Amino acid sequence: MTEAAADRIAELSRLLQQASYAYYGLDQPILEDAVYDRLYRELQTLEQQHPTLISPHSPTQRVGERPAQQFTAVQHHIPLYSLENAFDLGELQAWDQRWRRHWQSNTGNSSESSSSGPSPRPPAGYVCELKIDGSALALTYDHGVLVRGATRGDGSQGEDITQNVKTIRSIPLRLNLDHPPARLEVRGEAFLPLETFETINQERDQRGEARFANPRNAAAGTLRQLDSRIVAQRRLDFFAYTLQVPEGVTLADTDFQPPQTQTESLKLLQHLGFRVNPNRQTVADLAGVQQFFQQWDQARHHLPYLTDGVVVKLDRQDLQAQLGFTQKFPRWAIALKYAAEEVPTRLTAVTFQV
Ligand code: NAD
Repeated sequence: MTEAAADRIAELSRLLQQASYAYYGLDQPILEDAVYDRLYRELQTLEQQHPTLISPHSPTQRVGERPAQQFTAVQHHIPLYSLENAFDLGELQAWDQRWRRHWQSNTGNSSESSSSGPSPRPPAGYVCELKIDGSALALTYDHGVLVRGATRGDGSQGEDITQNVKTIRSIPLRLNLDHPPARLEVRGEAFLPLETFETINQERDQRGEARFANPRNAAAGTLRQLDSRIVAQRRLDFFAYTLQVPEGVTLADTDFQPPQTQTESLKLLQHLGFRVNPNRQTVADLAGVQQFFQQWDQARHHLPYLTDGVVVKLDRQDLQAQLGFTQKFPRWAIALKYAAEEVPTRLTAVTFQV
C-alpha cells in the first residue's frame, strides 16, 4: 500500500512540477487549472496520509516558480505568499475553525466573548474581495517614489520588472503623500482586461503565433516581455490590495497613518493613488461572506476582467499579525473558489496518466 502511495506521489510530483514550470516559467500551461487543482489535492491527501513520504521538493511545499534567468532576481523585502483554497462552504467553515483554534492556543486567550468551547470567538469581521485572475506584483516605494516592481517568483525571490511595471497607468510613480515614510510595500494584481486579451490573441493568430491560454498567462507573459514598448501597448491594468510598512521603517515625521484594518488599508491605497477594486465588502460573519460569494457567482460574468473566486481576509490587522503564516499561506485569509467549468485536459507535452 505504502509502495503504491509512494509511486503515485512520485508520479504526481513529477507531473505537477512539469505543469507548474510550464505555467509559471513559460506562461504556457499544459494542464487545465481544474485538472491541476484536482491532482494537487490528490497529492496533498496522499501526503497527509503518509507524512513520511513528503519530500521538501514536493510541489505542495513551494509557492510559484524560481525567477527566469532573463531578469535580475530580487529578494522580496517581505515574502509573497500564496492563498489556501476552499472549494465549498464546508471548507470555508473548517478554515474559520482552524484560525480560531490557532489563535486560542497561540495567544493563550480562551475567547474575548465566550470563555470555553472548541470555537473561540474573537470579534472578527471579514473583508470579501474578488480574486482577480492575474499576476501578483510587489511594488516598493522609497520616500514615496516607485523604485522597484517585481513578480512573485517563488515567494521569496522574484524578477525585477520595474521598467515594465512603469508602463501600467494605474500604478502611481509617486504616492500621494507630502511626507512619505522611507519605504512602503504595495501588493496587488496586474491583469489584462478581457477585451484586450481577445485583441492580443487575434493579433497572435494573424502572426501565426500560439494563443495565450487565458488572461492570467497573458498578463504574466506580458509582464515578462523584455521589450517594455510591447508591454506599454498591451495596456495591463492593476488592482492594489495590500499595503505594508516593512519592519524598522519609522513613521515619525511622516503624514502616513497606518491602517488598523484591511478595510482602512484599501481606502488608504485608493487615497495614495492606486486603483482598488470597488467590488468588495466588509461583513460581520460567514453568512455575509456566503452572501457576497453568491451575489458575484453570476454577476462576475459581466465584469470586464476574470475573477475565479472571493478572497476572504480577517479585517483586523492585529489578528492577522497574531496568526501569521504557515510555510505557504497566511492563516488569516483564504480563497473561496467558484466551481471550475470542467474542461478537457490538453495534454500536449505530458504523457502521464491523470
Ligand atoms: P492562487 O492563484 O490560487 O491564489 C493566490 C494569488 O491570488 C495571489 O498570489 C494573488 O496573486 C492572487 N489574488 C488575486 N486577487 C487577490 C486579492 N484580492 N487578495 C489577495 N490575493 C489576490 O495561487 P497560486 O499559488 O498563484 O496558483 C495556484 C493556482 O494556479 C492553482 O489553483 C492552479 O489552478 C493554477 N496553476 C495551474 C497550473 C496549470 O498547469 N494549469 C499550474 C500551476 C498553477
